Amino acid sequence: MSATKTTCPYCGVGCGVSATVTGPRTVEIKGDAMHPANGGRLCSKGTHLGETVGLGGRLLHPEIGGRQAGWDEALNAVAKGFSDAIAEHGPDSVALYLSGQLLTEDYYVANKLMKGFIGSSNIDTNSRLCMASAVAAHNRAFGEDVVPCNYEDLEQADLIVLVGSNTAWCHPIIWQRIEAARATRGTKLVVVDPRRTETAESADLHLPIRPDGDIALFNGLLAAMKDRGLLDQQYLAAHVDVPEDFWDQLGQTDVAEQAGLSPEALAKFYDLFARHQQTLTLFSQGANQSVCGTDKGNAIINVHLAMGRIGKPGMGPFSITGQPNAMGGREVGGLASMLAVHMGFSAEELSQAQRFWNSPTMVKGPGMKAVDMFRAVHDGRIKAIWIMATNPAVSMPDAGFVREALAKCPLVVVSDVMANTDTGSFAHIKLPALAWAEKDGTVTNSERTISRQRGFFPAPGEARADWDIIADVARRMGHADAFAFDSAASIFREYCAQTAFENDGRRKLNLFSWADVSDADYDALKPMRWGGLSPFADGRFTTPNGRARLLPVEPPPAPAADAAFPLRLNTGRYRDQWHTMTRTGLSPRLSQHRREPLVEVHPADAAAFCIRDGGLARIRTRQGEAIFRAAISEGQRQGELFVPMHWTDQQSSAGRANRLPNQGADPISGQPGFKNSAAAIEAVTPAWTGFLVTREQPELQGVPYWTLIRQRGGWLVEMAGFEEIDLEHLLPEGERVEALDGARGVRRAAVVDGEGRLAAALFLSRSGRLPERDWIAAQLDGEERHAGLALLAGRPAQLPPDRGPIICVCFDVGMKTILGAIAEQQLTSVEAVGAALNAGTNCGSCRPAIRSLLEEQKEAVNA
Ligand code: SF4
Repeated sequence: MSATKTTCPYCGVGCGVSATVTGPRTVEIKGDAMHPANGGRLCSKGTHLGETVGLGGRLLHPEIGGRQAGWDEALNAVAKGFSDAIAEHGPDSVALYLSGQLLTEDYYVANKLMKGFIGSSNIDTNSRLCMASAVAAHNRAFGEDVVPCNYEDLEQADLIVLVGSNTAWCHPIIWQRIEAARATRGTKLVVVDPRRTETAESADLHLPIRPDGDIALFNGLLAAMKDRGLLDQQYLAAHVDVPEDFWDQLGQTDVAEQAGLSPEALAKFYDLFARHQQTLTLFSQGANQSVCGTDKGNAIINVHLAMGRIGKPGMGPFSITGQPNAMGGREVGGLASMLAVHMGFSAEELSQAQRFWNSPTMVKGPGMKAVDMFRAVHDGRIKAIWIMATNPAVSMPDAGFVREALAKCPLVVVSDVMANTDTGSFAHIKLPALAWAEKDGTVTNSERTISRQRGFFPAPGEARADWDIIADVARRMGHADAFAFDSAASIFREYCAQTAFENDGRRKLNLFSWADVSDADYDALKPMRWGGLSPFADGRFTTPNGRARLLPVEPPPAPAADAAFPLRLNTGRYRDQWHTMTRTGLSPRLSQHRREPLVEVHPADAAAFCIRDGGLARIRTRQGEAIFRAAISEGQRQGELFVPMHWTDQQSSAGRANRLPNQGADPISGQPGFKNSAAAIEAVTPAWTGFLVTREQPELQGVPYWTLIRQRGGWLVEMAGFEEIDLEHLLPEGERVEALDGARGVRRAAVVDGEGRLAAALFLSRSGRLPERDWIAAQLDGEERHAGLALLAGRPAQLPPDRGPIICVCFDVGMKTILGAIAEQQLTSVEAVGAALNAGTNCGSCRPAIRSLLEEQKEAVNA
C-alpha cells in the first residue's frame, strides 16, 4: 500500500506525516522526510497517531435529543433553528464557535455563511484562547496579521529567546531544530518563563519571570539597548513610525522589581541581546494567554523593529501557534474580530467582501469574541449556537459558567468526531464529523506554510466533512447558489480568489496563483509558504503609509494582595497530551508520561499549606475548585501553582483545570488570561486511596475522587474516598481471589476470566501504601495465566526491576532504568543513554528529560 502524505493534527509546527494503511482501521505513521517543517521527524504525539484512529467512541450518526436521526432531519432542524432565531431576534442571536482543528476550507464556508449570508460576525474559535493576542499585536505593529519569520531562521539565529513557551513539550520539533542549531552553530538560548520547565533547564539563561512581567522586561531591554546606542536609526527612519513620547515612557519602571528578576540576570540578558544581532524571539501561549497579551506581543515586536532585527535571516519576533490550523482560520478570517482574508471592517473592505460573495445580508462590524459570546449565550442574547470540533465546556475559562450557558441555550448544535464529550452532553443536535484520518483540505502552520491534509480511511458510519455539513445547512437556509461547493478543492479556489480580489498590494496574503488550481493539482499540492521567506524583507509593511509602528505599552499593575486567595495559578500543557485528550487520551502509550493531573507546588508553599508530595490537594479560586495530585517542585516560583489543562469530566472526577480561571480577557484581543489567577491550596486527606485496573471501561459515578487513563488492553483508575463505599460494581463476573485485612484497612481483589487471564484488579488501602501499577496493569494485555497470590501482591513472584515513571514512551523506558544505566555505565550524554537503552532515539521528545537526569546524576556525584 502506498503512503499518504498528510499533516499532523496537533500543534502549530505542522509536521508532515506519511501514513501507510495496514488494515481496515490500522495505519503505520512516519514523519514525511520531504516536509519542510520536520524533515521526517515527529514528536511523541505525532509518532503515536496510529493509536488514535480506531472507531471506539466515535459519533457515527446524527442525533437529535439523544436519538439517532437521519441527516435530512438533523440538518433541517439546524437550518430551521437558526433561521427561526434570526427571523425573530435578528442575525446576532445566533453564533458559530469553531476550532483550530478545522481545515481552512471548513473555516472558509463557515465564515462566508455567517458574515455574508446570515449577516453577523458572531463567529469565533478556540484559537481565541491560543494566539489572538499575537494577531492583535501583528495588526497594530505591521498593519496585517503576518508572521515575519520562518523555521529556517531557527538555524540562522545566534540567539534564540523563548517567551512563555515550554517548547520542548509543546512544539517539540521546533525544539529539536533549536537543539540542532545549538549543537552545530553554538546558538545561545534564553528562556523567559516563571517555571523551570525542561525547556528552561536546557537554556544558557533562564529568566524565571513574575507572571505578566514580560512588558517590563522587554521595555527594560529596549531602554538598555537604546542606552548602549544599539538602535538601528537608519531602519527606524526609513520604515517605522515612532509616537512622539515613545522613548520617554521607557525605562521609567523598576524592571527588576516588576519582572521579578535579579539585576544580575537582567544584565546577562541585556548583554546577550546586545552581542547577537541575529536574534529570534519566539513567543507563545505563556505570553498570549494574558489580560495584557497584546501589549506583551508589541513589547517584543518593538525591540525587533527598533533594532532593525526583522525581515532578515535569523531574526525577528516569531509567534508560535498552538493549534494545527489556527493560522488557516486567521487567514480566512474566521474570527469575530476580522472580516475575511486579513481584512477588517472598513466600509471599503465590507464592500469588497460583499461584492466578492454576492452577499445579500452583509455584516456591518465585528462580533462577539469567545468570552463575550458565551456571556451572551448565558444571558439569552444568543439563542442558537453551533460548536464544531472543540470542547468549550472544558477549555474556556470559568468553564462552569460556560456549562450554565449551554444548559440554558434553546439550541446547541455540536459537530464532533466523538460521541461523548463534556460539551456534547449539552447538545440538542449532534452531527458526526470526519476525523483527521478521513479529512481532506489544507492547513497553515506557524511559518505560513500551507500543507494538504489528506484522508486515508473512508468515512465511517454517516460522518461527513465539516465544510460539507455547513454548506448543506446554508443551502437549506436558502443560499443554494453561493454554497454549491462539491469538493474541498472548489472551496480552496474560491478562498484563494478572495485573497487576490482587489488586493492591489494592500495585503501580503495573496494566493492568486492558486485561484484556478485544478482538482488534480490541488490533490498533489506540495507544502508552500505564502509571503516568501520573509514578507517584510523590503521594509514595506501593510499599514496605509507602508511603515511599521512602535506601540507604547505599559506594564500592568501588580495584582492586589488577596488573603483568601494568596497564590497565583498558572495552567498549561503536558508533553504527551493534546487539549482535552479526546484524541491523545485514546493512546495507552501517551497516557504513561503523566497518569494523573498534578498540581506543582514550590517546597516553601507546600510546607506553609501542609501539602504532601504525592498527596491530594484542592485548588480553589473565586470561580470554582478542582483536585489534583500534588507534586512538590523546585521548578515553581514560590507563591505560584501550575496545573495541566487537559483533564475533562470524561477522565476525572475533579481535575478539570479551566473551571478555575476567571473570565478576565485582554481588552484588545479578547484572549483570556489563563495563566495568572488568584488561588488557594489546601490538603485533601482521604480515608482511603486505591486503584483499579480493568479491561472494561468502568462506571465511576459515586467514587469521590478518580482519574481514568488508557492502558494496553484496558484502563487504569486512581481513586480516593472519604468514607467506606461499595465498589463491588467495579469488579466483573469471573473467578475471584480476594484478601481483606480490616485492621490495616487493606482490600485486594482480582478477577480472572475463564482462561485465567486478568480481567480486573482492585487495590484499596487506608494507609496509602499500594503496589506499583506497572506490572499489574500490564497483565490486562498479556497472555499470561496467573496464580491468585501474585495478582493480589500486585507483582510477580520474580520481581522485575522497578523502572520508575516512564520517560521515553516510544521505547517504554522508565526514569529508574535511565538513572541506573547512567550510574552503572557512566553515561555522560543523551546520545550515550540512547545507545545504551534506545531512550530518546525515536521521536526525541524525552531528550530534555534525559538531559535533566544526567545533570541530576552529575550534581549528586559532585555533591
Ligand atoms: Fe505533531 Fe509533534 Fe509535529 Fe507538533 S511537533 S506537528 S505535535 S509531530
